[in-house]
Amino acid sequence: MAQKFDQFKTTINEISDIYNAIALLSWDQQVNMPHGGSENRGYVLSTLERIGHQKITSPEFGQLIEDAAQEVSQLDPESDEACLVKVARRDYCKRIKVPARWVVENAQVTTNAQTVWEEAKSKSDFGLFRPALEKVVALKREYASFFSPYERIYDPLLDDFEPGMKTSEVQAIFNVVRPEQVALIKAIAGRPEIDDTFLHVPYDEKAEWDFGEDVITFFGYDWDRGRQDKSVHPFTQSFGTGDVRITTRFDPERAVSLLFSTMHESGHAMYDQGFDKSLQRTPLSTGASMAVHESQSRMWENLVGRSMPFWKFFYPRLQARFPGQLGKVDLDTFYRGINKVEPSLIRVEADEATYNLHIMLRLEMEIGLLEGALEVKDLPEVWNVHMQDYLGIAPSNDSLGVLQDVHWSWGMIGYFPTYALGNLVSVQLWEAMLKDIPDIYEQFERGEFLSLLKWMGEKIHRHGAKFEPQELIQKATGSKIDPQPYLRYLKNKYGEIYHL
Ligand code: ZN
Repeated sequence: MAQKFDQFKTTINEISDIYNAIALLSWDQQVNMPHGGSENRGYVLSTLERIGHQKITSPEFGQLIEDAAQEVSQLDPESDEACLVKVARRDYCKRIKVPARWVVENAQVTTNAQTVWEEAKSKSDFGLFRPALEKVVALKREYASFFSPYERIYDPLLDDFEPGMKTSEVQAIFNVVRPEQVALIKAIAGRPEIDDTFLHVPYDEKAEWDFGEDVITFFGYDWDRGRQDKSVHPFTQSFGTGDVRITTRFDPERAVSLLFSTMHESGHAMYDQGFDKSLQRTPLSTGASMAVHESQSRMWENLVGRSMPFWKFFYPRLQARFPGQLGKVDLDTFYRGINKVEPSLIRVEADEATYNLHIMLRLEMEIGLLEGALEVKDLPEVWNVHMQDYLGIAPSNDSLGVLQDVHWSWGMIGYFPTYALGNLVSVQLWEAMLKDIPDIYEQFERGEFLSLLKWMGEKIHRHGAKFEPQELIQKATGSKIDPQPYLRYLKNKYGEIYHL
């Protein structure tokens, strides 16, 4: 009876296999491949990408989706089958609106922009990057036009990362968060500086690495379905729930950052390991959105990994591994050190209290560029003014300012807000979890973390991408994305650490 649906499912499984092969080749490129392999790897990847793209945009596939939709129309709309058809149809309709010549031009422009960005960043010369970025912005404006009518030109770009989310919703949330976070940082700046010198002495890489692996084993990262390797930028890559790999990096200047990066990536990975098996080899076997994904990584990194109950259990173990560095540092001093707040220029090094402000600054600029209120040539100046307003500091050169992130050269405009939304969602889920598991902190102090993973698995992970992010968060917490839990968390935590 469900003959068309089966045919549709077979096709979508094949497409998923192609994209998993691409993912594996990209993982290998970043982890194992010798330098000389890049030319050939480029050919292999672009051939596979082309085959995948042909399949997912073909009229035959479009017809299959429509036929399958008819067959599942009587099913529960929350069934796997109905959700799969719904998501496949949404993605298909978006893809076929974008003409092939735009895809080709975008690939050329962004490949060039990345090369130019690298040079501009190393020379700290925004002027070099400006023409390339102007082309990227023009292409993004054109991309948005394929989806008109829209409420705001930024909506179609945001939708690629946060399905269903509107620019006005994000701005309304950020408008609540921004003044509170700016005020918090000002209050902290008036307090004595925290001593964290013990974090900036040499640590042994292997010992750090082993400790990080121990920690995420306690969290519940499944090594039978994963592994950890080294890469330039830490990332998580999944090839199906049975194989979800993470990477990390060691920075001698900031040795413990390896530990937090391992915890962060394990959060992404445990999400990917937790999708229901029935969703395998389909576009539902992925996170609900970038923000929901980031909520999981930030939760393990910050709400767990920078919390006192976690360190009550793990700190004696860390001290035992690093007696020279930490033997004389007591738990309270260590805890305050890893939670030190210090406005800084670089987003990826920002602490919990300042991080979102880095994002809000980028969002306002991206919207300005898209809506025409801001020109690319004015970015460095506007950047510096915003940094001063939000964080009270300004970069001395563009490399430490407007040129620091690679995203715009990749053409990734619309992505940044998901980082800050992820922070908000992490605490919103946390508050909901606390109602169900009121003794979670006592569990952490005993080294027990599995009930947290189980709760997230039940409420978030197993659903994969069946629901749009706002719908999923509503189901798990009773409301859509709400900034209040996050603001409460920041004020409590830093009020205590800084005696505000
Ligand atoms: Zn992340």
